[in-house]
Amino acid sequence: MILQKFGVKAIYRIEEVHVSSNDCLYRCHLQLPEFSVVSNVFKRKKDSEQSAAELALEKLGIQSQDDDDVDITVDEAWNNIVERIKYIFSDEFLSVDHPLGGHLRAALQRDGERCGSLPVSVIATFDAKINSRCKVIDPSVESDPILLMSYVMKAAAKLPDYIVVSPHVDSLRRKKPYPPATIKALATTHVKSIKAEAVHLQCTVGGEEVVKPVTLDISSGRYYLDIIADKLGLKDGSQVMISRTIGKTSSGYECRVYAAIPKLKSSDNSWKAREKRPIIESSHLEKSRNAKASFVCGVDIHGDAIVASVGYPWRICCGISPNGIYKLSREAIIAAQLPFSFTTKSTWRGPFPREILCMFCRQQQLVEPIFTISTAPVKPMSCILRSYQKLKDSECDEKDSECDEKDSECDDSEYQYTSKGKEEIPESGTGYRCEVKILSKSQDLVLDCSSRKFYEKENHAIQNASLNALSWLSRLFDEGDGDPLQICYTDDHLDAVFQQRILMKEAVPKGHFRNRDEMNQYEDQVRIQTITKGSLVSICYSVYLDVDADFSKDGKSKKELIESNEEIEFEVGNGSMNPHLEAVVTQLVVGQYARFLTDAPAEDLFVTAATGTQRDRSLLSDVAGFEYCVRLLGVKGPTEKRIEADFFKPSLSKQRLEYVVKHIKESSASTLVDFGCGSGSLLASILDCPTSLQTIAGVDISHKSLTRAAKVVLLHSKINKGACNLKSTLLHDGSILEFDSRLHDIDIGTCLEVIEHMEEDQASQFGKTVLSLFRPKLLIVSTPNIEYNTNFHKSGPPNHPKNRSMSSQLPKFRNQDHKFEWTRKQFKQWASKLAKRLNYSVYFSGVGGSGIGDPGFASQIVVFRRISLSNIVEKVSEGSMQPYKIIWKWSRGNGEEKTNL
Ligand code: SAH
Ligand code: MG
Repeated sequence: MILQKFGVKAIYRIEEVHVSSNDCLYRCHLQLPEFSVVSNVFKRKKDSEQSAAELALEKLGIQSQDDDDVDITVDEAWNNIVERIKYIFSDEFLSVDHPLGGHLRAALQRDGERCGSLPVSVIATFDAKINSRCKVIDPSVESDPILLMSYVMKAAAKLPDYIVVSPHVDSLRRKKPYPPATIKALATTHVKSIKAEAVHLQCTVGGEEVVKPVTLDISSGRYYLDIIADKLGLKDGSQVMISRTIGKTSSGYECRVYAAIPKLKSSDNSWKAREKRPIIESSHLEKSRNAKASFVCGVDIHGDAIVASVGYPWRICCGISPNGIYKLSREAIIAAQLPFSFTTKSTWRGPFPREILCMFCRQQQLVEPIFTISTAPVKPMSCILRSYQKLKDSECDEKDSECDEKDSECDDSEYQYTSKGKEEIPESGTGYRCEVKILSKSQDLVLDCSSRKFYEKENHAIQNASLNALSWLSRLFDEGDGDPLQICYTDDHLDAVFQQRILMKEAVPKGHFRNRDEMNQYEDQVRIQTITKGSLVSICYSVYLDVDADFSKDGKSKKELIESNEEIEFEVGNGSMNPHLEAVVTQLVVGQYARFLTDAPAEDLFVTAATGTQRDRSLLSDVAGFEYCVRLLGVKGPTEKRIEADFFKPSLSKQRLEYVVKHIKESSASTLVDFGCGSGSLLASILDCPTSLQTIAGVDISHKSLTRAAKVVLLHSKINKGACNLKSTLLHDGSILEFDSRLHDIDIGTCLEVIEHMEEDQASQFGKTVLSLFRPKLLIVSTPNIEYNTNFHKSGPPNHPKNRSMSSQLPKFRNQDHKFEWTRKQFKQWASKLAKRLNYSVYFSGVGGSGIGDPGFASQIVVFRRISLSNIVEKVSEGSMQPYKIIWKWSRGNGEEKTNL
């Protein structure tokens, strides 16, 4: 975290502390731009560094993951909060890269007596440390922002020399003014123009909230909480309560609800001194509970509220989806107000521009964007400093020199390159420029966007090009159906060619389920769930509000479309989809419609995207239920990993291992070779139990897998010391199609789920090589049974006409990497032919399922047994063929030996 935040500005210095002549301890000094910390002494350098970093994070008020609050007493927690408040109002904190630093700087721009005063709600909400310490005092603060604020006030009251606790408003100010130089530096701060889209949830006399989109214009330089206070009809920001974030952070939106801090009983001013929840005037409560706002943030809200996402230049879009999660909807993507440029990964919120663009193309049925990179030698012209805080004069002077320090300094590419005519360019590096092309399904060019700017990193060029393309699309959708020629967009950074007509033709939604007849067609059939867990299904759906005539205020029944989606994909069984919808969809066959009704939850709420109509919101009060219409567009079978893990208990891979271990135990084998050992799962299971085995070896061509295998095997031999009689374990790097004489004449060979990764003729060659040259007494080979696959991606009665067309969309094999998957017949043919030729007997079996009748086992297994005709065993001279490289070896007594790992 320190590295992310400060890069090379964080300077670690290790000091050796000699405690005796041969004993040395280490202490770490960590110098950060704003302050420095010194760790305790540790035996290892690493520990001292870690400790210093933790101390620094603590000072910054950032919680490291393993910060443990459990052993903190309530008294310590109070002290921590008091100290922390003192620190927040210190000179140094003002320039710290912390959300509160930003608030403080903004608060210093406030006028009059509010100058420099920080609303308590802000401190309570944005300081992780105070937050966590308050939780120690009383865990219920999590759902009670008012209580949380009261704790902050109480702690601040213990600092009468430093902090002014305003008696009338809930805000804190520092007593001593800040040094004038610091204030002056702040005044030069450039405030970017920010307009935040927000949703106003207004209470009305009728008791039904009105939902209105509003825009918060933060570019004026005013403190944004004051602006929100204005909208809420409050005096200033200190009267605004801030909820915790709502919605999924993974979508990149940190929405919060802003509302008035409930009025306290004027007679009861003592709450600040008590630890109990302040009592709120009950009349106030009854009058104006804001049901919608309360629902959104899970805390009782009274009076008007605003839902906004401030701090990110994104428009908030709350589109209710069937799974109840507010997420990026199609409208959201194209309506999003995007930042101007992509600077660093760490400052970017939400999905990266490239991802958004790809998502957009998919949703709009366009081909994935094509990125073309070009490079040129360029000179760094400017160093854009990402943080808002480098304000001090001295630091400003340093900027230029910092730029020359190159690389290490601006690791996350804070440089931006500008191409400036060839003559000026010294050979100082390569710049990347990216062009994006978007094509329609029919290969017509929709958008061709190229940037003139060069970036230091290829990824930054791609992200910025994507961003340009997105901004471009965003404008288009903002402007609606204007003349395509007029929308021709050019500026210094962007050359774009755009064919709106094609996009419109391809992407305009085709309307919602018109064909009700078809929808009801299957209503009488008895249904069973046929789509299994782990499948990816894509559906289109519409959700209507169904208002029963009896419940409707005007006595008429109504139906309002509240949401529809032309195509959405989700995984069955992972809880990402509305359960009703999922339950119905998994009973459908591809192409089929279903319509069903559900009750509307009493507390339900919709905050629709800013573009939504108000009509459907006004209907909410007399909703009888929802009507869902859904059509199954397609099903993709689950992947091999999921099949292996989810469809069987124990998992399919575990069952294979158990099968093999059983055979090992039944034999008196002392040597085993696992052909295609992968990450060593079989070797590990052998180490877990006592067997007669003395030497085991794994062979694989994947170096990466072998590296993992070495770790796994080492770990298991450590854990199971003495559990097995093994003398040594070896890992060989090599192809199992080649013979290595060192592994000749082994007792057991295993080859689990490997042959299907080769071409069929290679599988035969492997069989020949193993059985004729390695000549194990026993060879166990497993491979998927393709006949079983239908069980994994079944989606309806097999004879249904729609189903046939769908089966062609299904992936043939369980894993993209498989070159083939065999039927039981094919497998038997392969094995029997080999066995006959090379004097082995065969026995067929399998794991996964009962194996009785069709379609057989999920994993088919053959056990080859050498027919002992000693004269047939070919003598292979030792040392004649050794193509394998031993890359790792463990032996009892000597431990681990690595070669090339
Ligand atoms: N047997 C392991 C791994 C199966 S995955 C298990 O059951 O978990 C298939 C493995 O076969 C991969 O690790 C791959 O690298 C390996 N493989 C494929 N072709 C190979 C070849 N010609 N020689 C050696 N290993 C091979
Ligand atoms: Mg496989």
